[in-house]
Amino acid sequence: MHCPFCSAEDTKVIDSRLVADGDQVRRRRECLSCHERFTTYESAELLLPKVIKQDGSREPFDEEKLRAGFQRALEKRPVSVEKIESSISQIKHALQATGEREVPARMIGQKVMEQLQALDEVAYIRFASVYRRFKDLNEFREEIDRLEKQPGI
Ligand SMILES: [Zn+2]
Repeated sequence: MHCPFCSAEDTKVIDSRLVADGDQVRRRRECLSCHERFTTYESAELLLPKVIKQDGSREPFDEEKLRAGFQRALEKRPVSVEKIESSISQIKHALQATGEREVPARMIGQKVMEQLQALDEVAYIRFASVYRRFKDLNEFREEIDRLEKQPGI
């Protein structure tokens, strides 16, 4: 690929390692012309099911949208990018594993909640409160009580 600094065509890979539970390859490259270094991420393109929205319309699975959802829920929370990427990978695997050509949007929402619950309690509550649209404060409180009773959180 072209060097992002000088657009030269020849770059060499100086380091390569697996990230995101082995679903991505991170490569350090060096430009042979200007000797600047940069990083690329490579992942296999997977065929993912289309998403059936609540109004019945279909849209392609949007990984960026998923990532943005995680980032919003995890804003200022102590969770590494690596862990978020791993959660996204797991959701993609799970969607593929359904073998369906279309899946309801709420199935994805449910999987995001499962992942967030394992990652960070605050982020989970943030996401769940928006996603489930808790009817009132009591319902919200019940969910928090339920969480507090769970071991390991
Ligand atoms: Zn260059």
